Amino acid sequence: RLEGVVTKMRRKGRLSVVDIEAALKEIRLALLEADVNLEVVRKFTSRIREAAVSEATSRALTPAQQIVKLVNEELKATLGGDAFRLTFASSPPTVIMLVGLQGSGKTTAAAKLALHLRRQGRHPLLVGADLARPAAVEQLRILSESAKVDFFSETTSPIEVARAGLNRAKSLGRDILIVDTAGRLAVDADLMAEMVAIEDAVSPDYVFLVIDAMTGQDALNTANAFAEAVNLSGTILTKLDGDARGGAALSVVEVTGKKIAFSSIGEKLEDFDSFYPDRMANRILGMGDVLTLIEKAERNLDKDVAERGAKKIQAGKFDLEDFMEQMQQVKKMGPLKGIISMLPGIPKEIKDADIDEGELTKIEAIISSMTRQERRDPGLIDASRRNRIAKGSGSTPTAVSNLLKQFRDMQKMMRQMGLGGPSPTKKNIAS
Ligand code: GDP
Ligand code: MG
Repeated sequence: RLEGVVTKMRRKGRLSVVDIEAALKEIRLALLEADVNLEVVRKFTSRIREAAVSEATSRALTPAQQIVKLVNEELKATLGGDAFRLTFASSPPTVIMLVGLQGSGKTTAAAKLALHLRRQGRHPLLVGADLARPAAVEQLRILSESAKVDFFSETTSPIEVARAGLNRAKSLGRDILIVDTAGRLAVDADLMAEMVAIEDAVSPDYVFLVIDAMTGQDALNTANAFAEAVNLSGTILTKLDGDARGGAALSVVEVTGKKIAFSSIGEKLEDFDSFYPDRMANRILGMGDVLTLIEKAERNLDKDVAERGAKKIQAGKFDLEDFMEQMQQVKKMGPLKGIISMLPGIPKEIKDADIDEGELTKIEAIISSMTRQERRDPGLIDASRRNRIAKGSGSTPTAVSNLLKQFRDMQKMMRQMGLGGPSPTKKNIAS
């Protein structure tokens, strides 16, 4: 909806006071619809009105551009302004404690944060101090293995585990300690006391409140009780890949009074990063999140493979084998839906469309069932070969034909874009 407001304003040449009020009304509705805290909505719109009126005389930008700029700046400010920066304790380890409601994503965030820091050359120790559910410790242990970081827990008490974990980190020379704590369904007095006792035991440098972005206003306010109990440093916003349209993100800073330090955008360990208010503001306004996408690509794509693919396209030699290799690269970047949502200018209908992630796997199976020769020269595939491939990949001859047709269309398109070298030979496009 906010995207729509901006698009509408972009088309206007000059804005009158009436236009500004109309735009503000749309913005207010858009924010309320996204479940943004009412107080935040009020402050947000009144600041934009103030700025819009005082800047009305500026001639450098069209009035519409000014409003877009103001909305963007206000969004960034509401999201916390400058990005949160984690600094490290002068005498290691830097102790980080995660708290939050049950199911908010603490345990996965603990492992994701550990991996994030390990990739920056740190050596974290993950400590499982959630002894309320036996499975919680095991969940963290398994995640720590995937993240390739050390793990510690024992069956004493949550406070003892945290304290012993700290000693372990010191004796092992680990520079980061991340303590996962028990979740709460609501604000439960005993568990709150336990959390405070852990805080006293290990004196964390950072206490992060983990918040599910899909959470409604109520849960956000409940979560605020944590801010009163412990010395909160910031929040970690999870499940930003879900249906949440930024509502919780926009309220979190106002409600907790703390910056969003990190955000999580998927179930995989890699789907986690520092939170950048400016990028999120751009994303809410539909300008896409190209920077995040680029970083994601840099982390996950193998440059050699990408270059090899590009060269082959240029030379008109891009075949099904290359196609599969490139497809596997894209898959490494995570769910397609997440990638698409970061691209600028993609219509909402496409962003919201159900994407069948299994489709890629099916295509992979079909190509895997082809011989090397067939992949290099799909023209070889006649009816009997097609039947064999369908059988081998557990699909149907029609599915194989469709894939081949799509591939031919893609080759055609590459040629039309001036790629693919010499003009098509009959052989290249024959089936
Ligand atoms: P805890 O009870 O706070 O420790 O929550 P968990 O870490 O166990 O997470 C609860 C569920 O949310 C798990 O199924 C996680 O896989 C899932 N989850 C956590 N973070 C994200 C995220 O960013 N995106 C998605 N889609 N799921 C998440
Ligand atoms: Mg947990």
